[in-house]
Amino acid sequence: MIIKVRERTKMSAYERLYLPEVFRGLGVTLKHLFHNLFGNHKTRPLQTVRYPEQKLNYPERFRGQHRLLRRDNGSTRCVACYLCATACPAYCIHIVAGEAKDPKIEKYPTSFTIDMLRCIYCGLCVEACPEDAIRMDTGIHTKPFLARSDAVMGHLELLAFPGQKDTSLPYGAQEYRVLKNTEKI
Ligand code: SF4
Ligand code: SF4
Repeated sequence: MIIKVRERTKMSAYERLYLPEVFRGLGVTLKHLFHNLFGNHKTRPLQTVRYPEQKLNYPERFRGQHRLLRRDNGSTRCVACYLCATACPAYCIHIVAGEAKDPKIEKYPTSFTIDMLRCIYCGLCVEACPEDAIRMDTGIHTKPFLARSDAVMGHLELLAFPGQKDTSLPYGAQEYRVLKNTEKI
């Protein structure tokens, strides 16, 4: 590995004044502000969108907000194994396990929360889940919130999100099916 060491250059007396550079930066900001407000946007289009009135098109592979899935009998598929919380690099999943009545299931989450302000949408929780109980296939953008407490999604909220169409198959199976139909595998 090549490591380049850059010598620290001395600042000139002019640069040490700082204020000229501060005003130069402000000048750039004001130039963009006036162009955004009064400029000709046909010749030089705006680089910003007026969110939330305007939205950019998401890429085709955008998955969106998490959701939790239910079994056919309506109970949550999650067995509170903590694998998703363990895999999460942002430590934003918090689970409290309770004892399930069904001895085959053993545990269920009495509380399951995701702090969306900490989540980095990496999808590792989905990959880690052995029960296909958590997916990121809603296509929904995380809602805006004013209070930190509103950013924490609870168990019932996560269970209520619908999946996008054609995502009833286990996670990853959709792509497998597309590949199979086109006989690439
Ligand atoms: S998407 Fe990544 S950061 Fe967000 S909850 Fe899942 S594992 Fe954690
Ligand atoms: S969502 Fe999946 S990985 Fe996370 S605790 Fe529940 S069963 Fe385990």
